[in-house]
Amino acid sequence: MHADSKTHKWGSPPWQIDFTAPPHPAPLPEVLDFAVIGGGFTGLAAAAWLRKIAPEKSAAVFEAGYIGSGASGRTGGMALAESAAGDLPGLDDVLAGFSEILDELGVECDRRLNGAWEVGREKGLTDSAVSWNDSGTLRVTKEVSGGTIDPGKLVSGLGRAADRLGARILENHPAANIRWSDVAEIELAPEGQGVKKISASQIIFATNALSLRLSGLEQGSHPRLTLAVATEPVSEETLEKIGLAERKPFYTVDMPYLWGRVRKDNSVIFGAGLVQSPDSDDLDGVDISSEDPARIFTSLENRVRGLHPALESVGFTHRWGGPIMFRDSWKPVFTWHPRAMKEKNAIVIGAFAGHGVALSSYLGRWAAEALLKGRGLPKWGKLDGES
Ligand SMILES: Cc1cc2nc3c(=O)[nH]c(=O)nc-3n(C[C@H](O)[C@H](O)[C@H](O)COP(=O)(O)OP(=O)(O)OC[C@H]3O[C@@H](n4cnc5c(N)ncnc54)[C@H](O)[C@@H]3O)c2cc1C
Repeated sequence: MHADSKTHKWGSPPWQIDFTAPPHPAPLPEVLDFAVIGGGFTGLAAAAWLRKIAPEKSAAVFEAGYIGSGASGRTGGMALAESAAGDLPGLDDVLAGFSEILDELGVECDRRLNGAWEVGREKGLTDSAVSWNDSGTLRVTKEVSGGTIDPGKLVSGLGRAADRLGARILENHPAANIRWSDVAEIELAPEGQGVKKISASQIIFATNALSLRLSGLEQGSHPRLTLAVATEPVSEETLEKIGLAERKPFYTVDMPYLWGRVRKDNSVIFGAGLVQSPDSDDLDGVDISSEDPARIFTSLENRVRGLHPALESVGFTHRWGGPIMFRDSWKPVFTWHPRAMKEKNAIVIGAFAGHGVALSSYLGRWAAEALLKGRGLPKWGKLDGES
């Protein structure tokens, strides 16, 4: 994992992002056809797809830190169908679309779509593999479509694909401000390099739970840092005992919330807990070693040890957090930027809640098709109060 202030404040997950965008000898054109702000799953997939369908047009991704330094490099890695608000009109088959994107872009990320389990304290299936002690007995209530990916490999693979297709990726290039006009001007503030300005005919904002003032998402959205831990690798026998030998990821459908999955090396990830930032635009201010997050981590680790006798003395190797954004409706944002409603030259995508692994790339591709082929944006993606 790259080291920067986020790694320091938000901890590191147990996988690696092994792609760094190479420096490019040619300067960027004075006016880019497409600027993508944010280098997570959404922005990287959008940039790759823009170049895939319009190789003659210029596209660049401006990433504030390193690619994947937001949610994408820190995610749980459960690939889920639909959205956090369930199926939505016109959404179609997200998992099939996700797989198609990965195949078309040649991304290898240990994708394993073998299903996912909803677990709950009531109405558990009689043949539930899981039976955990957690404010009642947690059992599998339903199997749904889904599976897992390796987040480090997915970020790296999408970055590599975007780069190979000719999108320029500029890491450590935070967009600080946009001067809106027919051709918007983006002010970039790379550390120690002064302010750089670049114009772009069309922009995709894919900054998720960060830079909300820039993406026009300050109203009606709730950014948080959400927390996760990884255990040391456990034996196959332990996985059998705790019911996770089938490697199906799980999430609770009632409270208290818990999600998790087994990794390739037999370590198990568990996640739960949200931390609020004093400044809603800047989760960078949250430090996971501070009192509140540290207390949540301790309680999460104790909770995991209490789930089953086989986990009683399990060790933990990693603690980390990542940005996540919710809307009251639980629907993702996928609409024109409030400053570009008339011109239709800037799209905002985000607020996937805990449901963005597959949906982010899927809507990234859709955004590219909206800008290049006039594909319509869905009504459910509008901002609160947008007509
Ligand atoms: C701990 C955790 C567990 C999760 N588990 C799951 C799961 O199991 N399944 C699931 O489906 N979803 C899960 N999610 C949600 C999912 O990871 C996200 O929805 C998805 O990664 C969002 O991708 P993104 O590209 O939209 O945003 P991000 O990955 O957050 O990317 C936004 C990028 O924008 C950059 N940026 C911000 N401001 C600027 C700026 N001004 N200029 C330039 N760049 C900027 C950031 O540095 C960041 O890299 C989880 C999230 C977290 C945090």
